[in-house]
Formats: sequence, structure tokens, C-alpha cells
Amino acid sequence: QKSIVAGDTAPLLNTEAARGDEIGLLAQGVARLQESMMEERRLKNINADMAMTDRLTGLNNRQLLDREIDGMMELADRYQEPVSMIIFDLDCFKTVNDKWGHPVGDAVLKRTARLASEQVRKSDLLIRFGGEEFLIVLPRTGVTAAVITAEKIRTVLENTPHPTAGVVTASFGVAERHRAESFKNWYKRCDETMYQAKQSGRNQVIACTEDSLPVASVHVEWLP
Ligand code: GH3
Ligand code: MG
Ligand code: MG
Repeated sequence: QKSIVAGDTAPLLNTEAARGDEIGLLAQGVARLQESMMEERRLKNINADMAMTDRLTGLNNRQLLDREIDGMMELADRYQEPVSMIIFDLDCFKTVNDKWGHPVGDAVLKRTARLASEQVRKSDLLIRFGGEEFLIVLPRTGVTAAVITAEKIRTVLENTPHPTAGVVTASFGVAERHRAESFKNWYKRCDETMYQAKQSGRNQVIACTEDSLPVASVHVEWLP
């Protein structure tokens, strides 16, 4: 009974409920209450999962990013670890829809999600960020390793033609977060880099090299 007060719904009161007296009746009532609480908890969890999941691709959505991103940035700051972002956007995706129809476009999006998720680590956060735009947060990963991951995804998309739509490529921007940088600024740098990749001919990975934060200059003097 103490465990019921503590919110533990595991031990249903079956033995007590079998009693023929008033305690038995009471136990039956409590057991019914327990069951409905468990069901409510189960539905609540399903609801929360669905709210964080993109329905088409099954990937995490922006709500999940909103929930997780502050914690990820805090960890990176506390342990002075690098954290990187990849943004990629399918190339000329409007043409896929126009030429083959929306259902084929949807299938291409699903495949893209699957192929990309096969290339990232469990600790990476892969998000369907917009229609045909995806965002990955890579904890404990510097820009060089993030570029390698982006390049792996780019290559697998290029080498895996869809049976109907054929090859659908993507353009990638990669940015490592500066220490204590806001998500907004970090995202902006990454997004602008992705647009550079679009402008430079698409189907490529570009890393953000621009330093928007002032860097202390160091003067090294060799002693005789
Ligand atoms: P760019 O290479 O510059 O990115 O060109 P684009 O054609 O990919 O870009 P644009 O933004 O013009 O078009 C994006 C298209 O993505 C338009 C929209 O209809 C399509 N789209 C967005 N979400 C979905 C979706 O859930 N399913 C399908 N089938 N299409 C979608
Ligand atoms: Mg696009
Ligand atoms: Mg787009």
C-alpha cells in the first residue's frame, strides 16, 4: 500500500480484492483505479512520443529539438566539448513532386530519412526540420568529423536512386558551435552555409569557416 502512495502501480491488489469482506470491496475499487491510472499513463506516453515525431518519416520533429537543444548545449559548455550541426535540404525537390506526384515525393522523403538515420550515431539528433530540410545535432563532434558524416549521407543519397524518381541529391551546411553561442546564431551560420552549397551547384557539403565571434590574438615570442 505504501508503494501505491509512492505512485508505483505494479502490485495490483489481487489477493486483497479476492476477500469477501469490506476490505475486499475497497481493494477492488483501488485496483480498478490503479488500472485506469496505468492506462492513462500509457496513453500520455504515446501522446508525448507522437507530438515529438514527424508522421511521414518517423523522425524526430522540431518540438523534440526544442526540448533537447538547451541541454545539449549546456553539456557541451560544461565539459568543453565540441558540438556540431548539419543542415541538409533536398535538391530541386519541387521538380520531383511536379514530375512524379506528391506520393512519390513523400516516398523519397521517407527514404532520405532512413538513409540518413543509418549514417548517424545513436547520440546524434536527426530532425525533420521542415518539408525537405533536415537538421542533425552531433554532440562531442568537431567540424571535421561532422563534415565526414555529412559527406557519407551525401554519397549514400547520390548512390541510391529511387526506383521512380531516380537520384535525388541534397546540399549540406556544417557548423561547429562556438563556445556559449546561441542556438539562433549557430543555426543561422549553418543555414547560410547550406545556401552556399546550393549556390555553388548543389549536391555538396560546405563547412562554415566564418568566425562571427572575436578571437583573442596571441603573440608568440621565441626566447633566445
Ligand atoms: P532547392 O534545390 O533550391 O532546395 O529547390 P527545391 O525545389 O528543393 O526547393 P523549394 O523550396 O522550391 O521546394 C521544396 C518543395 O518541397 C516544395 C514542396 O511542395 C515540397 N515538400 C515540402 N514538404 C513536402 C512533403 O511532406 N511531401 C512532399 N511530397 N513534398 C513536400
Ligand atoms: Mg530543396
Ligand atoms: Mg527547403
